[in-house]
Amino acid sequence: MSIFHTHMLLPLAEPERHAGLPARLRAIRRFERSSDKVQRAAQQQRLQRILDHAYNTVPFYRQRFDDAGFRPSDARVDRPLPLPVLKRDDLRDGVSALLSSSYRLQDLRRAGSSGTTSTPIQFYRDIEGLRNKTALQLQLNSWSGYKPGDSVLMLWGAHRDLAMQPSWRWRFYEETLMRCTPAPSGIINDEILERFRERYETRRPKVLYAYSTVLAAFAAFMQRRGMTHRPTTVIATAEVMNDENRKLVESVFGVPVTMHYGSREVGMVAAECLDHEGLHFHPWSSYVEFDPIGDTPDGPAYRLLITDLLNYGQPFIRYDTGDCVTLSMQSCSCGRWFPMVSKILGRVCEGIILADGGIVPGITLGTQMAQMGHTFRSIAQVQFVQKSLHHIHLRYAVKEDSTAKQPELDSIRTAIDALMNQPMHWSLEQVADIPRERSGKIRLCVSEIPPPDSILANTLLTPKRPEPQLPELAS
Ligand SMILES: [Zn+2]
Repeated sequence: MSIFHTHMLLPLAEPERHAGLPARLRAIRRFERSSDKVQRAAQQQRLQRILDHAYNTVPFYRQRFDDAGFRPSDARVDRPLPLPVLKRDDLRDGVSALLSSSYRLQDLRRAGSSGTTSTPIQFYRDIEGLRNKTALQLQLNSWSGYKPGDSVLMLWGAHRDLAMQPSWRWRFYEETLMRCTPAPSGIINDEILERFRERYETRRPKVLYAYSTVLAAFAAFMQRRGMTHRPTTVIATAEVMNDENRKLVESVFGVPVTMHYGSREVGMVAAECLDHEGLHFHPWSSYVEFDPIGDTPDGPAYRLLITDLLNYGQPFIRYDTGDCVTLSMQSCSCGRWFPMVSKILGRVCEGIILADGGIVPGITLGTQMAQMGHTFRSIAQVQFVQKSLHHIHLRYAVKEDSTAKQPELDSIRTAIDALMNQPMHWSLEQVADIPRERSGKIRLCVSEIPPPDSILANTLLTPKRPEPQLPELAS
């Protein structure tokens, strides 16, 4: 890891996220170097500490622990916490009861969850927690060889919060000093992919870091166009990548894909190691529980519950991430005992197909809703069903039928319309619930139109397609 970047540049340029970074990284690495026994003991201590803090400073948890007859000292990292699950709906009901009284509101940082498994909620993090999460993410990156200062091309399906209107200073910092080239786009079509390709070929990045669906679309495009450069690391994040897309990306770029898993609420918490046998949840940052929900075609599935060990501003205890996972029966060849999942089943986002052959990736719809910047109080779940090229049918479930319902529905339509380069006709249907599919997946977008004859669409839609051809590397 570049000492210049971790010790000087990052802490100075972005103190909000990176102050004290060297010490944080040292602490995580010390944890990683210690024996399994010491690591488990440290995790037990960290779990106890956040539970104590939640009990003593958060009214919601004091009530909840008392109702369950639970004392923080009862907690053990080798068994489930005997407490109810924290649901997004608990967070909709009013954040204030969930905030720790140890912090003033102005010392906390507000963020919004993504809209991919249910409509967004707002929540808070303390700054120390935010900095520790950033350090952990850098450490997870380093597992796959990506270090701060390495040249990286970031392919996103939507504008990131920071990249909306970058100033020249920000661009200088990001592109010249951090050697990071962001390539965000709401719509994915050949023109955008060509722009990504140009940046890729000019920058020749060591690392490709991308939303899974955008990465797959880019790989399919590069396979057609040919390429002269290969990255050494490819990291996919934000949504599930199906096996076919993974094979496609790996064959096109010639390196294994490294999956990372995180959410806006808890940050980046899991990553594949170099053995690629599953995703490890880092025990320094979270305590995970796998709650059985039944069989799926992929095997027994579990609801992923996370207790965040880093956010003291608004503790998340047994938080239902909305994602399901399957577990690996074997331990990883790398030797880490860290809890490992073989597959994340949640968040299948697909996308909306446009008349000109372009696509708005489903993950973009989720991000767009998150950026609306408020908690949805009435609408709890949505699903976008594309009925024809110009028709979106919005299915939604409400938490409560309040006066907030209509304005919230209108705001979703306005936000999504703004992503499209064509007018859409909307229809609406209230349903009791948008259930998880038998596969364990929650589908944000469903396409009912015949799959168009487009490689791009094929990377986003579910139907089977022929095995990808091995690419020719142009020299
Ligand atoms: Zn491993």
